[in-house]
Amino acid sequence: MPASPAQPLPEKADVAVIGGGYTGLSAALSLAQRGAKVVVLESETIGWGASSRNGGMVLSGLKLGVNQLISRYGRELTRRMYAASLESIDAIERLVKEESIDCDFARTGHLEVACKQAHFDDYARQVEVIGRECNHFLRVVGRERLRDEIGSDIYFGGMVDEGSAGLNPARYVAGLAVAAMRAGAQISERTRLQNIQRESRDGSPGFRLNSSQGSFWARNVLVGSSGYTGAATPALRRKIIPIGSFIIATEVLSEALARQLSPRNRQIYDSKNYLYYYRLTPDNRMLFGGRAAFFPETDRTIRKSADILRLGMIEVYPQLREAKVEYVWGGTLDFCFDSMPHAGKIDGLYFAVGYAGHGVAMATLQGEKMAEWITEGKTDNPFTEIPMPGAPFGLYNGKPWFLPFAGAYYKVLDWIS
Ligand SMILES: Cc1cc2nc3c(=O)[nH]c(=O)nc-3n(C[C@H](O)[C@H](O)[C@H](O)COP(=O)(O)OP(=O)(O)OC[C@H]3O[C@@H](n4cnc5c(N)ncnc54)[C@H](O)[C@@H]3O)c2cc1C
Repeated sequence: MPASPAQPLPEKADVAVIGGGYTGLSAALSLAQRGAKVVVLESETIGWGASSRNGGMVLSGLKLGVNQLISRYGRELTRRMYAASLESIDAIERLVKEESIDCDFARTGHLEVACKQAHFDDYARQVEVIGRECNHFLRVVGRERLRDEIGSDIYFGGMVDEGSAGLNPARYVAGLAVAAMRAGAQISERTRLQNIQRESRDGSPGFRLNSSQGSFWARNVLVGSSGYTGAATPALRRKIIPIGSFIIATEVLSEALARQLSPRNRQIYDSKNYLYYYRLTPDNRMLFGGRAAFFPETDRTIRKSADILRLGMIEVYPQLREAKVEYVWGGTLDFCFDSMPHAGKIDGLYFAVGYAGHGVAMATLQGEKMAEWITEGKTDNPFTEIPMPGAPFGLYNGKPWFLPFAGAYYKVLDWIS
């Protein structure tokens, strides 16, 4: 990770950005390019959150399927949401090129694999509806041809999108930070936002931000703290469920074994709620992730997840029984109560959150959209137009006591559906 230059906080800024991940840094880059004076507060170090720990899958679509989106939001809004997911991949490709970010970005395509016959039967319907409504074309792969895509026999078939991509997430977030600083944004690491109050200055409405490194005034604030949103922004925290996700990486595999496991080097995930996602790294390790424990990362959940994920990996790929697992880590995902991304304003603060495991591309795009909104007063962003639900009966203060029940619920759902 690049180190940001040690610099005191300014007295005032046009925009204070909370969080130094994809959302915050892509917003900071775009804001600085538009001439705004931007300060990013990051409580740890650049990219410390999910943005350096994820699977690096740059995926089309959202967590929810297109049929579900249509029944919830109608066809027009669904089309715009799906188009935003495709635009988000293009946004990364453009940024990587423009800013010369060395992060192994490649349009490898993604493969979703069906754990049940019923899931596979649904793929044909999904391909048809995405083609018809969104003018984007995926491909169904029958069980008999699945070996062309994956070296595993446990699935009922697959669905391929050639437009999706993969990258090295930590290198990408590092590159974004360098680009933002080059454009003039200040990044203040080890600076935790503690609280915010509304305060006018020279007749302009704005906010006083109190942080672990002192206080300053900003005309606007963008919160991009995702799954790590804390007590400094309590209203937003009550709308986000932090969920743990974990990854193991094997030792470097032989070229022949790697090609057998993933002949086309796809970004792969399965059709369960409690899903596994996996891919090869450029140096031929198998990187295998999942929501092995629902709770966010601790030494205990990480250790437990390593065992669970290794068993999962061997179930998919018995060929990896002898492969040594060399790394394990965890991070926290941000889910909203409707599993949708949301952007808007809460208590006067701009925010973009809720990427639900699809945040690599979408957080980058949302950062750009928020920069446009803040500087130009408008933006075309379907995720600002949908209602953002809170917890049922308001029974939530940001501490997800219900995660074990939710985990059990989704496991049962995976058995029966
Ligand atoms: C293990 C794992 C695997 C994943 N795999 C994928 C994948 O393959 N594809 C995909 O699309 N998505 C994936 N995701 C999701 C994706 O990584 C996230 O959606 C995305 O990184 C969110 O970026 P962000 O900038 O919004 O948040 P983050 O990167 O989480 O950054 C938030 C930052 O805010 C900081 N912060 C919090 N509170 C404060 C405060 N008070 N003051 C200052 N700073 C604060 C935190 O320190 C943190 O660095 C995965 C996530 C995890 C955890």
